Amino acid sequence: MKHFIIFGPPGAGKGTQAKLMVDKYNLRHVSTGDLLRGEIAKQTELGKKAKELIEAGNLVPDEMVVAMIKSEIANHPDVTGFIFDGFPRTTAQAEILDDMLTKLGKKVDSVISIIVDDDLVKERIKHRAMLENRRDDMQDEVITNRIATYHKKTEPIIGYYKKQNKYHEIDGAGTIEDIFKEVCALIDNL
Ligand code: AMP
Repeated sequence: MKHFIIFGPPGAGKGTQAKLMVDKYNLRHVSTGDLLRGEIAKQTELGKKAKELIEAGNLVPDEMVVAMIKSEIANHPDVTGFIFDGFPRTTAQAEILDDMLTKLGKKVDSVISIIVDDDLVKERIKHRAMLENRRDDMQDEVITNRIATYHKKTEPIIGYYKKQNKYHEIDGAGTIEDIFKEVCALIDNL
């Protein structure tokens, strides 16, 4: 069983690439953002707690996403692999994921990082706002906060996975097809 992490700033195209990876490599896509939006739509307790934080562009507490990831892994023992999208987003989450997988005799195989600069990120988020009805994609100050949160809390994870020799970068400035070609080349060479 393989465990991939698709990494990068908000709007880098992680979800799009993850979906293509699912089709080609038969992986299960786990997006913590999608799971959280599902909880909000169902108006669960978790959803109610997450809503305000998400709409302000802040992260939800680690425990919340960790619990969701744990149940995703536990509920899908027969899949050929997972692609984690939007998780981990803090070094603490990365450490917890490692512990969780180690206990199951498994590991993170590779972190695929889509490199996109802040200006292009803003452009892509605004484009997505027109396609999907995401409240956190609509306001400039929320977008700015999400990007700042990424640099402050999520980027440090890069060092964590570099130390483990699992971190791989891909230029995210090209088309969806260009980026996916690079993703495939990377996976096929693992
Ligand atoms: P995304 O769809 O991945 O951009 O996530 C949307 C929002 O959900 C983020 O801005 C966070 O507020 C929240 N979120 C998603 N994944 C995580 C995570 N791993 N840790 C904390 N908050 C998260």
